[in-house]
Amino acid sequence: MVDILEDIKKIIGSNAILEGSDISNRASSYWDATPISAKAIVKPKHTDELSLILKQMNDQKQILVTHGGLTGCAQAANTTPDHIALSMERMNKIIEIDDVGGTVTLEAGVILENVQNAVAEKGFFFPLDLGARGSCTVGGNAATNAGGINVIRYGMMRNHILGMEVVLADGTILSSMNKVIKNNSGYDLKQLFIGSEGTLGIITKLIVKLESAPKSKETAIAALDSFSNVIQFLNHMKKEAASSLSAFEVMWGGYYDAVTTEGHHKAPIARNAPYYVITECTGTNSRHDLDAFMSTMEKAFDENIIQDAVIPSSEQQRNEIWNVREGLEPILTNDPIFLYDISLPIIHMEEYVREVETSIARTWPQSDCFVIGHIGDGNLHLFICPKEGDESLHHKSNQIVYDPLKRFGGSVSAEHGIGIEKKEWLSHCRSDTEIILMKTLKKTLDPNNILNPGVIFDLTDN
Ligand SMILES: Cc1cc2nc3c(=O)[nH]c(=O)nc-3n(C[C@H](O)[C@H](O)[C@H](O)COP(=O)(O)OP(=O)(O)OC[C@H]3O[C@@H](n4cnc5c(N)ncnc54)[C@H](O)[C@@H]3O)c2cc1C
Repeated sequence: MVDILEDIKKIIGSNAILEGSDISNRASSYWDATPISAKAIVKPKHTDELSLILKQMNDQKQILVTHGGLTGCAQAANTTPDHIALSMERMNKIIEIDDVGGTVTLEAGVILENVQNAVAEKGFFFPLDLGARGSCTVGGNAATNAGGINVIRYGMMRNHILGMEVVLADGTILSSMNKVIKNNSGYDLKQLFIGSEGTLGIITKLIVKLESAPKSKETAIAALDSFSNVIQFLNHMKKEAASSLSAFEVMWGGYYDAVTTEGHHKAPIARNAPYYVITECTGTNSRHDLDAFMSTMEKAFDENIIQDAVIPSSEQQRNEIWNVREGLEPILTNDPIFLYDISLPIIHMEEYVREVETSIARTWPQSDCFVIGHIGDGNLHLFICPKEGDESLHHKSNQIVYDPLKRFGGSVSAEHGIGIEKKEWLSHCRSDTEIILMKTLKKTLDPNNILNPGVIFDLTDN
């Protein structure tokens, strides 16, 4: 091992390798404050350096785990003392904003928020947006096929990516830096790496397409008395606002009340309703868009779909509304707490959540089950707080949350990936044939199993 680090130092210099306390000073992830445990953290600056490093590692069968912003929710970037971590933090250049073609070319370690701000200065909009925007990297977004709050209108990370550069396990640089929307010249290889959670190659560059910056943004938070009204409200917004609908986020009442109790977030609308929805429309004509949005909301109120609504009159009030949805801190103080990211058809959501809540309450009588979701995408996040015991309850909680999904045709991961945390449950939503083909791809692209081994599945399973 000393030799491999010496070899890597010759490629990138000793300043670009962290060892000892320089590693343990870093937290394992956004979610886990325990120090990173790894042999070393390597921080290449260029694709060529990374290619040489990977060639060395592959020759010596050295395991490498890629680190973006470490905000991922599925333990896909976990390391052990034998692993070397690859930090993308120095590959963080915004290479080019093409204002004719409407694209931006990025190194994979660029922080999402920096992309959003840089393209906004040029009048463009990069629609991927999530609560971790200030820490997550675009490479991590691609590797997890991140979703977030604008999926209902713009799709997931996959929908934004036009081109990609990847370094394969043996150091080969695969350049598919396509800039155009139409390119049907054979297999679309970049798709293999999107959502592959670092198991098939290291994403080093991306070309993503940009949207025109909206000139208006109208937001509302509404209180609703039943889940059937939540569905009706979604359909109403889709029909009335059509393509300008850019967010539709639901919060079950228990979540809203917990994060707005005294000392936490300011409640933008009265507490104690069964459901809350934050909805947002964006457009190109501020005066007309506000009038249209107001009349859409009034119609929903007149038709008794929503019981109450608040439309913010300032950016500060708008932020206060979104803080309720994105500022999870008040519930994250529960220990243990188990976080879920599942999807299922909207039609089954109410029954599914009721079933989970009932099982959780029966199993742990003092427990809380908080639910929020990107409901237009069929995606729910659950936070199970048993209010007793420790991490050993996680498996039981997983059973309660995941088992019913089979029946409802759902997925154990909507947008966070499988990582290490959910691999035991992969067969709940993917067939044997699909999993065998995934393993064949892994063995073909990474025959020595050095890239994030044990993430998504174990190759030793069959
Ligand atoms: C507050 C908060 C809110 C969030 N909200 C959402 C949300 O709404 N929607 C959503 O989808 N996710 C959400 N997430 C999860 C997380 O932000 C995303 O999964 C994000 O895309 C991870 O990016 P990262 O750079 O932090 O990746 P990391 O956590 O560092 O890594 C995640 C995985 O990607 C791999 N990886 C990272 N970079 C590369 C690369 N360059 N090449 C190959 N593999 C790589 C890692 O090895 C690992 O397997 C949220 C997280 C937090 C903390």
